[in-house]
Amino acid sequence: MPTSTSPPRVLGIAVSSPLRRLFDYRPGGSAPPGGWAPGLRVRVPFGRREVVGVVMECRERSDLLLTELKSVSTCLDSAPLPADWLWLCRFTARYYQHSLGDTLHQAMPVLLRQGRALEGRTRERWQLTAAGRDAPAEALARAPRQAELLAMLDQHPHGLATQAILAQSFSREQLKALAAKGLVDSREEPLTARSQPDADHLLADPALPLNREQAVALSTLHERLDAYHPCLLEGVTGSGKTEIYLQLIEAVVGRGRQALVLVPEIGLTPQTLSRFRKRFRVPVVALHSGLTDHERLDAWEAAASGRAPIVIGTRSAIFTPLARPGVIIVDEEHDGSYKQQDGLRYHARDLAVARAHHHGIPLLLGSATPSLESLAKARSGEWRHLTLTRRATRHGPAKLELIDLRGRPRQGGLIPPVLDAIRETLNANHQVLVFINRRGFAPTLACHACGWLAECDACDARMTLHRQPPLLACHHCDRRRALPESCPTCGSIDLRPLGSGTERTEETLAGLFPKVPVHRIDRDSTRRRDAFEQILAEVRRGEPCLLVGTQMLAKGHHLPHVTLVVVVNADAGLYASDFRALEQSAQLLEQVAGRAGRAAHPGRVLVQTLHPDDPHLRLLAERGYAALAEQLLEERRDAALPPFRFLALLRLESAKEEAANELGRRAAGALRSWLTDGELAVDCLGPVPAPMERRQGRYHLQVMLGAEKRSALHQACAWLTRWLEATPEARRTRWSLDIDPQTL
Ligand code: ADP
Ligand code: ZN
Ligand code: ZN
Repeated sequence: MPTSTSPPRVLGIAVSSPLRRLFDYRPGGSAPPGGWAPGLRVRVPFGRREVVGVVMECRERSDLLLTELKSVSTCLDSAPLPADWLWLCRFTARYYQHSLGDTLHQAMPVLLRQGRALEGRTRERWQLTAAGRDAPAEALARAPRQAELLAMLDQHPHGLATQAILAQSFSREQLKALAAKGLVDSREEPLTARSQPDADHLLADPALPLNREQAVALSTLHERLDAYHPCLLEGVTGSGKTEIYLQLIEAVVGRGRQALVLVPEIGLTPQTLSRFRKRFRVPVVALHSGLTDHERLDAWEAAASGRAPIVIGTRSAIFTPLARPGVIIVDEEHDGSYKQQDGLRYHARDLAVARAHHHGIPLLLGSATPSLESLAKARSGEWRHLTLTRRATRHGPAKLELIDLRGRPRQGGLIPPVLDAIRETLNANHQVLVFINRRGFAPTLACHACGWLAECDACDARMTLHRQPPLLACHHCDRRRALPESCPTCGSIDLRPLGSGTERTEETLAGLFPKVPVHRIDRDSTRRRDAFEQILAEVRRGEPCLLVGTQMLAKGHHLPHVTLVVVVNADAGLYASDFRALEQSAQLLEQVAGRAGRAAHPGRVLVQTLHPDDPHLRLLAERGYAALAEQLLEERRDAALPPFRFLALLRLESAKEEAANELGRRAAGALRSWLTDGELAVDCLGPVPAPMERRQGRYHLQVMLGAEKRSALHQACAWLTRWLEATPEARRTRWSLDIDPQTL
C-alpha cells in the first residue's frame, strides 16, 4: 500500500443506488493506516442522508470541480475488504449490467452494510498457567471453590470457554482471583471455527472405499488440484456424488486450502450438513437464510480470514470471500434456485465458473440431471465429463411407467390402477410418495351453472382454493379472499373445486387408507421451522405411510423406505410456452423418481399423464434423462436457443399498460437503429407481453435480445442500459435487464 505517496485527491465511491456509476468525493476524516485504497468502506453524505459506500478508485481528477466535491465523513475499515470478493463484485456488476454499488451492498452481510467492523465475535478461553499447573494442593486451602475451579481446568489442557465455566456454577470473581494469583490466564478466540487439526487428523469419520466409477472420477479430479479444472459430475441419485465431494474436499483441505460448496435452497437441510460435519474434524461453516445477522458476519469473517476450511451455503454464499480458495463445488447444478429472480439477477452457478477460473482452482458441478448449458460444455470437451451410472447401493434407478389418465375416473387426482398399486405397497409395509405440483385443495373454484372461475383481481391468474384454512389465495401476488357463498356471476350455489392440489389428495388418501398416516409436505404444512425435519425423521423410522408433497419432496432427501412414487400429473411442462419448461419438468420427474427404492427394495414410479404418446415423455420414460437431454440439445441447436445462443431480456413493468408499452417500443426502436448502424449481430424482439401480463396489478412487458456471440450481446445490453438511464421517461416505468434469463 502506498503509505509514502501523498493521498489521492479524489475517491470514486460505489454507493447503493440503481445508478450505474461511481460518485466522487474528497478524502476526509482520518486516512486509514494503509492509506486510501479500493475496498475500504466509508461513510459519505449522499443526498440528505449519510450512507455506507465502498472506495473503488483513487484518482487525481474528477469531472467535477474539486471544490464542489463533498468529503468522506469517516473511513470504517482499517484494511480493505477482501480482494477476491471485490473482484467478484466487479465482475458480477459488469456481467449483469447492474449497479456496482448495489452489487457490493447485496454481496455483503447486513452488518457490514450498516457500517459494523469486519470482525467476528470472540470469546475468552481460560487455561492454567505453568504456575497453576505446579501449584501445591494446599495453596488454595482457604478458597475451596477456587481450588475446585483450578482442578477442573487441570482436566482441560486446551482450556475452557468462559461460558462453559460459568455453566458449572463458578463465578467471574473466582476466575479473576485465580488470574490475579497468576494461576490461570485467558486468551481471546473467534467464536466460529476454532481448532484446525493437521492434515493427518482431518477426518472424524473414515472415507468410504469407492466403487470403480467413483474411483475413476475422483482420480480425474485429483489430476489437477492447482488449476482451473471444470468438471461436470453426472450421476443418478444415490450414485455417490456426495461421497466424491467429501473426498475431494478432504484432499483440498488437507493441502491447507478452503472449499466452498453451494447447495440449492431446499438441499441445505440438517441432513446434508450433518453428513459434512460428521466426516470432518474441522469446522463446517453453514450460510443459509436461518442465520442471524451476527452469525452471518461471524461466518463471513471466518471464511475471509481462512479459519473456516469448509463453507456450505445457498445461492448467495457464492459471495463468500475466501483467503485460500481451493475448490468450488455446486451440488444439483441444474437447480433453478441458483438464479436470483429479482434485483441483481445473478446465477450462482455461472458466477462459480467465473470465480473458479479467476482463482485457478477446480470446479465441480454435480447433478443427476445436468442443465443443458452444462451438458453442452461437457460434450464439447470444454469441461471434463465424469459419470456415475450405478447406484452406490443395491438397486438401479426405477423406470418411469406412463399411466394413461384419459377417460378414467379420478379420486383426489388418482385413478383406480394407481390406487391399487398404492394399496399393495402399503400392504407390503412399504412407504408411498405421491408427488403433486400444486399446493392448496384445488387449483381453482368453478361455478357448475355458468362456468365462472375464481380469478385474481390483480393478476392474469386463477385463485387457488385452500381448505386449511378455507379461503381463495392467489399464488402469484398472495391476495386472499373469503370463499363466496354463491357464484358472483349467476348466484348459483353449485360451486365446486376444479382439479386437485396437495390438500385434496391428502384428504382423499386419508379417507381411503384410514389406518396409515398421511403426511403432507408443502409450503403451507411446513411453515413452522422444524416441521419438515420432524416429518422426515418420522418417515425415516420406516413404518408404512403415505407422503403427499410438492417439489419440496423431490430433491435430495434420502427416503429409504419409499418403494412407490406416484406423479399425479406429468403434463405441466409438456406444452408450455417457455423453451426451458420441458428441460425443467424432465429434471423434476427424474428427481422425483430418484426417491424410489433407495435402500433394500427396488422401486416403481407411476407417472399419470393425458399424453402417454408424447415423444419427449416417452423418450424420458424409455431411455432416461440423458437421452432426452441429448435430443433437447439438438432441438435447441435447430431453434437457435440457449445454450447455442445467448439471450437477455429487458423487463418493463408499470401500473399503466401504455406507459410500459411506449417505453418498450422506444427502447427497442433506438436499440435496433443503433444495431443497424454498428452492424452488430444481435437481434431484438418485442416489446411483447410477458407470459403473465398482469401481475400484482401491474403490466409486464419484455424485449428480448439474442446473439450468437456473448460479447456482441454484452455490448448491446450496455448500450441499452445507458440509453435507458439517459431517457427521462424511463424513470416512470420500472425496468430491469435479465442476462441469461431462466424463464421467459
Ligand atoms: P448422491 O449424492 O449421488 O445422491 P450419495 O453420495 O448420497 O449419492 O450416496 C448415496 C448412498 O450411498 C449414501 O448412503 C452413501 O453413504 C452411500 N455410498 C456412497 N458411496 C459409497 C461407497 N463407495 N460405498 C458404499 N456406500 C456408498
Ligand atoms: Zn355461476
Ligand atoms: Zn394475484
